[in-house]
Amino acid sequence: MSTIDGLPPLREVIATHGLSARKALGQNFLLDLNLTAKIARAAGDLAGSDVLEVGPGPGGLTRGLLAEGARRVLAVEKDARCLPALAEIAAAYPGRLEVINGDALEVDPLAHLMPPVRVVANLPYNVGTELLVRWLTPAVWPPVWTSLTLMFQKEVAERIVAKPGSKAYGRLAILAQWRCDARVVMTLPPEAFTPPPKIHSAVVHLTALPEPRFPADPAVLGRIVAAGFNQRRKMLRASLKGVAPAIEDKLLAAGIAPTSRAEEIDIEHFCALARIVAGA
Ligand code: SAM
Repeated sequence: MSTIDGLPPLREVIATHGLSARKALGQNFLLDLNLTAKIARAAGDLAGSDVLEVGPGPGGLTRGLLAEGARRVLAVEKDARCLPALAEIAAAYPGRLEVINGDALEVDPLAHLMPPVRVVANLPYNVGTELLVRWLTPAVWPPVWTSLTLMFQKEVAERIVAKPGSKAYGRLAILAQWRCDARVVMTLPPEAFTPPPKIHSAVVHLTALPEPRFPADPAVLGRIVAAGFNQRRKMLRASLKGVAPAIEDKLLAAGIAPTSRAEEIDIEHFCALARIVAGA
């Protein structure tokens, strides 16, 4: 069977290299190269970008990224069993694929890439969320990366793009949307993966804004949002009591009714409150 790149089909790669999926590593592989090419296209202009791919596994998405013209791909994979399969891809695309065998939570090769940098990953969901939070909270903004294109459990994707007033709206939505455009670009049923997981998945594409939508100190905003949503059923005058003295006055000064709840407040008003709290 011919493939997009002349390399063997992924089922054959998996059989040749004995890559039986390991649950502990969250291994649910994408074997359809048309689908991985589609995800790669959702990541934006690859020809002019370096790409950090996290968790390449047998390399389905890696092949999509390279076939779609990525200037260079740096891939971090924890499972050493995948290295020979990835080496075959590197040989087919000379000088364009480098693989690091390591844990993406411990190695951060972002600084070694040439801007613009795009991050693409189909990772176990817990690792993906932890990395997303790290990528969204760098020491300086704008970050090193231009965009993040990440697979999540559908419910997590909904939390990232949620709007005020919805059940899914919370810390993740504010963290993501304060300094990024975030949208769901694809949803995938369990059968898209081998083996199929129990849940539906979605790809979220985030692009970094040059500056935050509204000015605020990230640490103060983070404290307010955490306190507000930790007790999301409580009125803000109660849930934010420990955040700053005279919180009712500060809420009013920010244009927020002290009786409202965190899930009703948009990012603009949270940022206004953060500025008032920081100024106090
Ligand atoms: N990208 C491949 C695909 O789409 O078919 C594999 C996806 S599979 C859901 C997740 C991959 O992430 C696996 O190859 C797994 O070994 C790898 N992985 C899991 N935890 C990791 C970590 N902490 N750092 C780097 N890779 C990890």
